This record gives sequence, structure tokens and C-alpha cells, in this order.
Amino acid sequence: MSQDLDELFSKNRDWAAAQEKRQPGFFTRLLGQQTPQYLWIGCADSRVPANELVGLLPGELFVHRNVANLVVHTDLNALSVIQFAVDGLKVQHIIVVGHSQCGGVKAALAGARLGLVDNWLRHVQDVRDQHAALLEKIPEALRVDALVELNVLEQARNVCHTTVVKDAWGRGQSVVVHGWVYGLHNGLLQDLRITAAGPDDVMPAYQKGLERVARRYLAEE
Ligand SMILES: [Zn+2]
Repeated sequence: MSQDLDELFSKNRDWAAAQEKRQPGFFTRLLGQQTPQYLWIGCADSRVPANELVGLLPGELFVHRNVANLVVHTDLNALSVIQFAVDGLKVQHIIVVGHSQCGGVKAALAGARLGLVDNWLRHVQDVRDQHAALLEKIPEALRVDALVELNVLEQARNVCHTTVVKDAWGRGQSVVVHGWVYGLHNGLLQDLRITAAGPDDVMPAYQKGLERVARRYLAEE
């Protein structure tokens, strides 16, 4: 095994020992069950470590990550995660988290050709094309971050439109969908306030979210 990977095992042993020292019995308690309150749907980017940046321990956050934090209606992977989180774990909150200067969003905006991933990023390009009129009015230097936010709004809305979430709301189960953005430059989360706790919240929250993005980015012209 290479030196680099040895280091990972060594760090892992240190981490497990420190965790057990802080909270004796930590790992054996988790063996019994996981009861996370939150499902995090974020970007695969290595600079956005889900648990770490909200200070949550193993067992406290259910996580799904992919390039550009997409929720595609036919993606069985994401849909299965959402179903297990809602039906099995009964999470209270589903949070779609984008991040500033997202490489996937940047590539989609520019129409870069990177290979297989272009097909995945086509979904972000659909968001770009849907909001082309707004994006054109935003100064070029700010467009990536504006599209990051627009993408979060669309993906949060996609979560609301899944059969899993619609069925949960239909039977009166409490699940709130949110859209946040993480700032790579300062490590801070920002709530885009597309917050939906039921089917009637979805369109108004989405519309208001859109208006806020437009106001914020056009004001900086
Ligand atoms: Zn990203």
C-alpha cells in the first residue's frame, strides 16, 4: 500500500480513538440505529464536506452527493436515497445545498466539453436555458454563482415533486424541503428560503426565491 494510503488508515485510527474518548461507547451506540433528522443533497466537490461544515457527527446527517447537487426525476440513486430518508428514517428536513463557484455549474454555463459528465451537466444547462433572460442581464463575473442559486431552486423544487415527498405530505408526514448555498470563500451557509412544508408552499417559495436571486444579482450591476 502506498505511503499516502497508510496515512489515511493512521488518521482513521486517531479519529476513531478521539471520538471514542470524547464519547465512550459512541460507535456501539450507533450500531443499534441511525436517527438523522436531515437529508443533505449536495455537490460531490471535496471542498464541501457535509457533516463537517454543520458540525454534525456520524448518525446525524443522511447524505447524498453528486456533481452539481442534482435531483433528476429518473435518477434511481437519488430517488432511492430520498425514499429511504423519508419513508425509512423519517427525516424532518431535506436540504439541497449548492456552493459558490461550482465546477459543474461553471462547465455547464460555458458549454465546456468534458466527456461523459456533459450528459449529466445537461440538466444544469436546462436550468441555464430556462433562465437565460435573467442570466443575460447579470454581469458575467457573477453568472456562475447566480446559476448555482437558480440550480438550487430548481433542484429543491424537483425534490418537492418526487412521488416520495408528495406521498409523505399527502399522509400528513412532516418533511420540510430547503435550498441553501455554501460559500467556498468564507465557509458560510446561506438560506435561499425556498422552504416548502407542503404542496401549497412549493410554487410561492420557488417564485419568491427566483425574485430574490434576480434582485440580489441585478442590484450588483
Ligand atoms: Zn460543485
